[in-house]
Amino acid sequence: MVNETFTSNISKSWMREALTARGDEQRKLHQRAADIRDKTVSRAVYFRGLIEFSNKCINDCLYCGIRKSNNAVKRYMMDKEEILDAVEFCERAGYGSVVLQSGEQKNKKFTGLISSIVGDIKKKFPKISITLCVGEQEKSVYQEFFDSGAERYLLRIETSNAEHYKKLHPKEMSFSERYRCLNDLKNIGFQVGTGVMVNAPSQTLDMLAEDILFFREIDADMIGMGPYIPHSKTPLYITIINKTESLNLTLNMIALTRIMMPDVNIAATTALQALHPKGRELGLLSGANVIMPLVTPIHYRNNYVLYDDKPCRNESSLQCANCVTERIYAIDLVPKHRVTGDSLHYINRITSHHVNEGKGVDNDS
Ligand code: SF4
Repeated sequence: MVNETFTSNISKSWMREALTARGDEQRKLHQRAADIRDKTVSRAVYFRGLIEFSNKCINDCLYCGIRKSNNAVKRYMMDKEEILDAVEFCERAGYGSVVLQSGEQKNKKFTGLISSIVGDIKKKFPKISITLCVGEQEKSVYQEFFDSGAERYLLRIETSNAEHYKKLHPKEMSFSERYRCLNDLKNIGFQVGTGVMVNAPSQTLDMLAEDILFFREIDADMIGMGPYIPHSKTPLYITIINKTESLNLTLNMIALTRIMMPDVNIAATTALQALHPKGRELGLLSGANVIMPLVTPIHYRNNYVLYDDKPCRNESSLQCANCVTERIYAIDLVPKHRVTGDSLHYINRITSHHVNEGKGVDNDS
């Protein structure tokens, strides 16, 4: 099991070595991470039903298939009833949590609608916890989302290196603004999730090591990391990628993150499955503990394609529910239905905050 001395002595050269581990060394790394996961946050795998409710976006990230310049995408926005139907499916499937994800829009009509939908979900499905993933917003907007009932927010930093960030994004976007957003989310009281692309263009092993240090520095509660997979309609498209290298690096990132941040929630992202038929299982075996089955209505899925070869586009939500549950059983982990699966890291930091203030905390998670 990881201990204080071990984590405080971790050096970047050790991290680089771990990231490049292959063969027996890699197996040992993943086993060590899985053992830490088992002892710290248990063998339970939590479900987050992923509803990609709109592909409209004002941004032009250089790697993203739904960037605003991609005119080949048919834009959509699910209406409130469709979103509530999808959440109802999540409740029936036993998912304790939903993720409402979209491209970024900052207008009041859009953000107001999100707050209203969050409020309606809370009224109709009070036991389901809500994660939002709708990009960079003003602090007052985040506060409105929180006050409406959203508990968690995902905002991937994509890379913690400001220079590298510039290479992946148009000049209107900045690392400092994204960092500001993560801080605001934290200060408001969200469980905050972030993450990076792995094996992205111009990325080095040092940058990946620094990404994990960044997760620790901002005290993230949830981490989601996917391999960089090029999309043919983007400026960063390259025709040849080394899938094995991307898979190995991403799995090692998951394992290292678990070793260095034992109590966070880590997603086994669907993108892993684009590289290997059992990619998500491999993610779980490397220390992840969250899975995000798609609940987006099937007729929208081909228009929410951030990277080429995105899996699960032609399976119904029910097929996805059954498939992921079987995959979890097959690797001897425990699919955990009907629990919100809050990040233990979040519970620990809130508890210590309240204890420090002498207030105590109620913890029913
Ligand atoms: S990554 Fe997000 S913000 Fe960037 S273009 Fe894609 S949907 Fe928009």
